[in-house]
Amino acid sequence: MLEAPPVNLVGCYPQVSIQGFQYLVDFGAGETIRYHRVNKDKTCSCDTPFCEAVEVVRQYLQAGGQRAPEPAIIPTCPICGAKTYPDRNWDGKYTKSPGWRCEKGGLRHFLEAKCERIKKQLAENPWLIPPAPGYPGVKRDEVMTWEECEAINRKTFLETGYDPTA
Ligand SMILES: [Zn+2]
Ligand SMILES: [Zn+2]
Repeated sequence: MLEAPPVNLVGCYPQVSIQGFQYLVDFGAGETIRYHRVNKDKTCSCDTPFCEAVEVVRQYLQAGGQRAPEPAIIPTCPICGAKTYPDRNWDGKYTKSPGWRCEKGGLRHFLEAKCERIKKQLAENPWLIPPAPGYPGVKRDEVMTWEECEAINRKTFLETGYDPTA
């Protein structure tokens, strides 16, 4: 078998470039459909089944061509299923979960979903201090306020002699 000669890519068709989240395949001026946009799911904008452009992209990637970026997944609202749009002001500082607003419910649905998540976490791990022999334990949802937290600290101190605030 003959070795393929080095290819000069400039002015050589088809050419593949990245456009948004798609691959733009340029077959050159002489073609009926010059430009084809190939999606990541291996479909082409020209709607031709088994379009040649899809194969061109496959070879381009196989040859180490740059990949198109992954489209950002915009999550739907878990409360009503409507579209959401990002709101950087509500990005989780510690959880790193992105903030968003619901198209229908706005910020309210974001906060409701957040509450649901916290409730779920509470249900999965309800114990702040798990029960031990002679000690009933403390559930997280029992610690709602700072005052109550204080009371627990005092209780710990009285029972164990350990002062968590010291
Ligand atoms: Zn095509
Ligand atoms: Zn919603």
